[in-house]
Amino acid sequence: MGNLTTDELKAAEAELRVALNKLRAVRGEPPLTASSQPPYCSFCGRAKNEVRAMIAGASVHICNVCVAEASQLIQAEEVPPSPCVQAC
Ligand SMILES: [Zn+2]
Repeated sequence: MGNLTTDELKAAEAELRVALNKLRAVRGEPPLTASSQPPYCSFCGRAKNEVRAMIAGASVHICNVCVAEASQLIQAEEVPPSPCVQAC
């Protein structure tokens, strides 16, 4: 046997986090949350509570401000081809 179910693993993880947070409290360190780190934008460094939306990637986050800026940059680069290039 030895195979743990997902629920058992989650319970074990929660117990571990409680024990770890007790240790961190003794050391005066901030407690860990379920996601271990509050999401920060990987591009501008804003925290989730500083922006309207935070989009999570595989191991990165991007905020709505950076999405808007990136969108503007992409649109600025997408210059429509001159009709002459196609016609001539
Ligand atoms: Zn950002």
